[in-house]
Amino acid sequence: MFQEKYDVIVVGAGHAGCEAAAAAANMGCSTLLVTMNLQNIAQMSCNPAMGGIAKGQIVREIDALGGYSGIVSDLTAIQFKMLNLSKGPAMWSPRCQSDRMRFAEEWRMMLEGTPNLDFYQEMVSGILSEGNEIIGIKTSLGLEIKAKTVVLTNGTFLNGLIHIGDKQFGGGRAGESASFGITEDLIKMGFESGRMKTGTPPRVDGRSLDYSKMIEQPGDVNPSKFSYSDITKPLTEQRSCYMTYTSETVHDLLRQGFDRSPMFNGRIKSIGPRYCPSIEDKINRFADKDRHQLFVEPEGWHTCEVYVNGFSTSLPEEVQFKALRSVEGFEKVKFFRPGYAIEYDYFPPTQLKHTLETKLINGLYFAGQINGTTGYEEAASQGLMAGINAALKVQEKEPLILKRDEAYIGVLIDDLITKGTEEPYRMFTSRAEYRTLLRQDNADLRLTPKGFEIGLAKVDRLKRMEYKLDASEKFVTFFKETSVKAAIANPILEAKGSSLMTQGDKMFKVFSRPQIDLEDILKFEAVTDYISEHNLDQEVIEQAEIQVKYAGYIEKEKVHADKVNRLEDVRIPDNYDFEKIKAISIEARQKLSKIRPTSIAQASRISGVSPSDISVLLIHMGR
Ligand code: FAD
Repeated sequence: MFQEKYDVIVVGAGHAGCEAAAAAANMGCSTLLVTMNLQNIAQMSCNPAMGGIAKGQIVREIDALGGYSGIVSDLTAIQFKMLNLSKGPAMWSPRCQSDRMRFAEEWRMMLEGTPNLDFYQEMVSGILSEGNEIIGIKTSLGLEIKAKTVVLTNGTFLNGLIHIGDKQFGGGRAGESASFGITEDLIKMGFESGRMKTGTPPRVDGRSLDYSKMIEQPGDVNPSKFSYSDITKPLTEQRSCYMTYTSETVHDLLRQGFDRSPMFNGRIKSIGPRYCPSIEDKINRFADKDRHQLFVEPEGWHTCEVYVNGFSTSLPEEVQFKALRSVEGFEKVKFFRPGYAIEYDYFPPTQLKHTLETKLINGLYFAGQINGTTGYEEAASQGLMAGINAALKVQEKEPLILKRDEAYIGVLIDDLITKGTEEPYRMFTSRAEYRTLLRQDNADLRLTPKGFEIGLAKVDRLKRMEYKLDASEKFVTFFKETSVKAAIANPILEAKGSSLMTQGDKMFKVFSRPQIDLEDILKFEAVTDYISEHNLDQEVIEQAEIQVKYAGYIEKEKVHADKVNRLEDVRIPDNYDFEKIKAISIEARQKLSKIRPTSIAQASRISGVSPSDISVLLIHMGR
């Protein structure tokens, strides 16, 4: 029925599990994906959308490494937007609205088309280990399946408990049962677990809404896409979203259910995502606000189901319904599904190494919501890295660890394992200290060579990336070497309120002025001649523009990153005994012993470890 021993078993086929399975299998490992319901592969448990601020950059990074999320998102998008275009390129964040059913179907098709990948539907009820080595999994039917490595990606399912008003019932997601056994096994092995909660809004019948009372939110006029590969194309048709607002009346109606709210009557004890608060939480915390924005998002091309973004709630269903009927445009709303909250087990991620392998059991990896994160993109990126590192371990190769100046994925994993998280962790641009380096436009330049080296990204991706790098560098050199006369530049500078030139100057200098944008640059004949002579595509032109306009910022961050990376290179031996360093604070000693950082740089990011503790540590490391 199964192979005698798999290289990699992935438990769970959510966003993390799908990426993990695809990566391991594509890297040549015999892989088994076990999940509770094969009908529900890559379900979007909450909003039908991928990307967004900082999350879009992660999807681009997954794609650049050779993961599937970018391709699947492009193939199933119904709307695409580049967010934050009015800000600098470090903040540009791609986001798409997805066709929820097509998204899951496309993922399944991609996985079924992946070699070396077997599937099995059942609940995994335990972990098999010998000493501190993983040897496989056991299932609820009593099967034992052997593997060299196991990746756990159980999402919100571990002892999941759903809340709607004063009703509570077991479940991993609405309509799906919870998972039992794994938490208990892991605790017996010595792992620490915790509880978190998250919530989701009601889904409604789009035919019952009056869109004329809402504000239309169309997609971009020239939509872009996530994948760097040419497998996907930008959308030629899009569906609009809509915007409306709650009101004092809506808030009053919601308040009437507060005494039956599991959030307020003590039934839900765990912490939810601070940045994705429920509507009752928003009313409570921001009592002075008389309205909150709601985004009305279609769930696909061919369904009338609509997602009410911003109205996440676990209030009794009749309270949700009554309140929503008072929202403008929702007067005749019909419900498809009520909103609900869910509590689930997670495992504090400080129990992991940078590879996402657990410190306690060799060959056991955790990825996704099980690590205390929230969001599809955060989950998918961890799944990808866990799948990659499980495969590299099986192949007895060096692990792939992304640094904080190389990828948002590196920031995410380093934050999780170094600082841990007490509330659902989501990515923000502000978490990345090198965000000018970690842009959505250059994820391929940063990561595709790495993806290729480990055997995940294919050669055509590498070739595209090499062309982009070479062509954009040559274009920048052209700007550095070509002069422009004051008489030609001044009319353009004047129109933009930039100071006039008294003599000719290099294009690089002129174009790096903050007032000058790509549209202006393209007014110079020498530039357009160069573009047509070299047949440059839009991606290369934009890359060169960013390299010119933000050269100062990019250089500054590179210098800073190099300095920190020198500390990253000061390694701390695996089983170093921090207790013996008496010259550092007790708190630092305790934290260092618990987290066991592998480098001085990582040690410096642990809260409670001060710069003077680091100086002492440096001396102990012989520096
Ligand atoms: P999941 O997508 O949950 O997938 C877990 C998979 O594991 C499933 O396929 C399941 O069947 C399988 N599985 C579990 N246990 C077993 C087992 N024992 N044996 C076999 N298979 C198993 N994210 C946001 O960013 N914002 C939000 O507002 C938000 N709200 C949410 C609201 C709700 C109600 C839920 C459920 C999730 C919400 N999320 C939200 C989170 C988002 O859905 C997750 O972050 C993301 O799906 C996590 O991906 P994952 O792969 O870790 O787990």
